[in-house]
Amino acid sequence: MKKRAQALAIGTREDIIMLDKAPDRKISDLLNALDKALSAGEVERVVDLFQTDCYWRDLVTFTWNIKTMEGKEQVRDMLKARLADTKPSNWKIADGEVASEVDGVAESWIQFETGVARGFGHLRLKEGRIWTLLTTMSELKGHEEPVGFDRPMGAKHGAERNRKTWKEEREAEAAELGYSRQPYCVIVGGGQGGIAIGARLRQLNVPTIIIEKNERPGDSWRKRYKSLCLHDPVWYDHLPYLPFPRNWPVFSPKDKIGDWLEMYTKVMELNYWGSTECKKASYDEKSREWTVIVQRDGKEVVLKPKQLVLATGMSAKPNMPKFEGMDIFKGDQHHSSQHPGPDKYKNKKAVVIGSNNSAHDICAALWEAGADVTMVQRSTTHVVKSDSLMELGLASLYSEQAVQSGMTTAKADLIFASLPYKILHEFQIPVYNAIRERDADYYKRLEKAGFLLDYGDDDSGLFMKYLRRGSGYYIDVGASELVANGSIKLKSGIDVKKLTEHSVILTDGTELPADLVVYATGYGSMNGFAADLISREVADKVGKVWGLGSNTTKDPGPWEGEQRNMWKPTQQEGLWFHGGNLHQSRHYSQFLSLQLKARMEGIPTPVYGLQKVHHLS
Ligand SMILES: Cc1cc2nc3c(=O)[nH]c(=O)nc-3n(C[C@H](O)[C@H](O)[C@H](O)COP(=O)(O)OP(=O)(O)OC[C@H]3O[C@@H](n4cnc5c(N)ncnc54)[C@H](O)[C@@H]3O)c2cc1C
Repeated sequence: MKKRAQALAIGTREDIIMLDKAPDRKISDLLNALDKALSAGEVERVVDLFQTDCYWRDLVTFTWNIKTMEGKEQVRDMLKARLADTKPSNWKIADGEVASEVDGVAESWIQFETGVARGFGHLRLKEGRIWTLLTTMSELKGHEEPVGFDRPMGAKHGAERNRKTWKEEREAEAAELGYSRQPYCVIVGGGQGGIAIGARLRQLNVPTIIIEKNERPGDSWRKRYKSLCLHDPVWYDHLPYLPFPRNWPVFSPKDKIGDWLEMYTKVMELNYWGSTECKKASYDEKSREWTVIVQRDGKEVVLKPKQLVLATGMSAKPNMPKFEGMDIFKGDQHHSSQHPGPDKYKNKKAVVIGSNNSAHDICAALWEAGADVTMVQRSTTHVVKSDSLMELGLASLYSEQAVQSGMTTAKADLIFASLPYKILHEFQIPVYNAIRERDADYYKRLEKAGFLLDYGDDDSGLFMKYLRRGSGYYIDVGASELVANGSIKLKSGIDVKKLTEHSVILTDGTELPADLVVYATGYGSMNGFAADLISREVADKVGKVWGLGSNTTKDPGPWEGEQRNMWKPTQQEGLWFHGGNLHQSRHYSQFLSLQLKARMEGIPTPVYGLQKVHHLS
């Protein structure tokens, strides 16, 4: 009896509080208690299973939204609104998994069901109660992807007159979709984002057309500056369904990733309309249908989908500064996205405005080609060595060591997803502190050269900057050494005043002679595409895309808890935004595709907590 009493550490609920239990027991007991309380519809009993300081991140299962409930009150509110409808059941440790415990936190992969779907998730317990809960939708019941035992036959055994081959069926589909038969979904933008969501929708049998103004899949990478290689390593970059082979380089050169995307588009049987530009789109609230006007091979085609996904790129709408004298400048000038590469600038004078990724890559390539290069840095930049980022920032989830120790891409994505945005910076700050210590001499040398450094507003480093503002950093693959040793000249803490016919004048009066000016000044919010293609009104109705509302530089509050407008319902019915880096595109395309499939099948999808709009761009 005494022993049993000692095992009770806190609270009142014997079934969840025995701290000397094995992690599996702890998690199973909690899941049993959760299952019972949810099935009984007893919201208070469910809420009692959560810590005061708790997070429940739901990817589409309860909320038909991407939403994090922070604290018991938000959990309570959500359950009151959604529990009866969701009908969750069968909560257990995921098949084949075992729970673990480190530093008093027990954790496990979990599985469960709702009335319409199967779910997978992750649970962390602290002191016997739920600290973090991730619930994600894996598949819709009755609409599973055709995999494993359900894979397509391919061949049609038997004998049949006028049988069609796979090729003939593909050709027939390509000929009719968009003409005699309307797609359910149109994706504007056939970069990696449009391709990934297109592949998911294909597997879910959602008739879809991808509209891309470039000729070939992969061109959005091919057309970027010559020296570009992916900044993220291969383990982070896989596409859905078809991972890169084991001999794929760590950092894909841009043309190689372009070829992979082209191959992928073909083998995944996507209806990809290259050389096709979307000109206009409008939504009819009555028929709940889009009219999408596209120009294909010089001819106008009108598409009538129910859903419109803008996958036009979050790094695609150039922020072009306006400086006095740009109209009289006699040299070449362009935004970084238009930069052709360094070849014609040997022995020329180049001024690159900006100090983030593109600016560094372009400066280094120009220097290698023999140009005289000056970088103009207006404000601080976060710089992190690629090696350090890989070893200290990514290795536990995305690296060869992670693969060797059994980590899969799907699990790595879900572990990442299980860390609530509200506290993600707390996990990131120690990583960047360690990087700062390890690379202290390197940072000193950069500062000595005049480079203005930061580590994020709260020292949480690169990934938080990416999530919050999508800019303000350089993953150093070599250019910083050129800045430190003066090979790339630097003017920092300063802005451009104006251009003359042959030079750039800075605000301190310095004149930089220039044959080339590159504006590496970043990109604007994706709702700018909605303004271009649909209307200003709709762009304002959905508001700013990206950012968390962290109230840090370029990510104004209030706190949103999730990335604005990405992969989830927006204020405009039938309008969706998809994109981000390869990791996000892979991971979130699963949840966007399930939201679209459910709508196509007429499964009710009441959205809980549709985000409000606080910023227009
Ligand atoms: C220099 C640079 C380096 C990057 N490095 C990495 C990296 O290492 N790893 C990583 O994961 N991410 C990286 N990114 C970020 C991001 O992953 C890429 O920008 C990626 O290309 C985004 O894919 P996307 O499909 O969302 O957009 P995009 O590749 O920009 O594709 C959007 C497509 O939409 C098309 N489009 C736009 N408007 C229309 C229209 N009206 N009609 C038809 N088509 C239209 C465009 O032609 C384009 O092909 C980098 C970005 C940049 C700019």
